[in-house]
Amino acid sequence: MRLGIDFDNTLGDFVSLLREITLARTGFDIRNMRERYPDAEHPETIIHAAIGKERFESFLTEIHETDLTLQMPPQPGAIEVARRLAERHELIVLTARGTHESEAVHRWLERHAIPVRGYIATNRAPKAPHAIEHGLVTHLDDSAEVFADFDDTHPTVPALLAHPMNAKATRAAHWRSVEDWLAFERLVQSLEREQ
Ligand SMILES: [Mg+2]
Repeated sequence: MRLGIDFDNTLGDFVSLLREITLARTGFDIRNMRERYPDAEHPETIIHAAIGKERFESFLTEIHETDLTLQMPPQPGAIEVARRLAERHELIVLTARGTHESEAVHRWLERHAIPVRGYIATNRAPKAPHAIEHGLVTHLDDSAEVFADFDDTHPTVPALLAHPMNAKATRAAHWRSVEDWLAFERLVQSLEREQ
């Protein structure tokens, strides 16, 4: 089967690296913003007020566009499960990054010895058409927004990886919520039995 896998916050832990950089350079800790500021609809506004919007966004750009990506730690279980899945399936990385933001991702995948069969960078465009075009049986992603246009007639099973950023997101009934990479592996096994 062909399995779609997102990169940022799915394979690699973008938020941890962002926290580390923000803390080191500004002294402001972005950890657990939703828990610390439960009344804030958008915790980003608190970060912007504390350290400046432009400065914070420059950190995001720097992680996306430079070798900083290589410093991203893997999400728990991501490496082991991805390698196991790659023994039986084709892994296709499907990211909203652009081509110019992809060089370091390729090196990250090499460094962690994850054998991927394909790499699609949508450059912020929707992933749903690419999932159809490439015949993805399922796609694993930390972003609920990504799945907004995977309606219940879409052939790809949306697998939403649990993340503090999507904890409060509204989910459609046909989406699968996966707690972690091991849960994704079990989902793939059950989809395989249905094939
Ligand atoms: Mg992501």
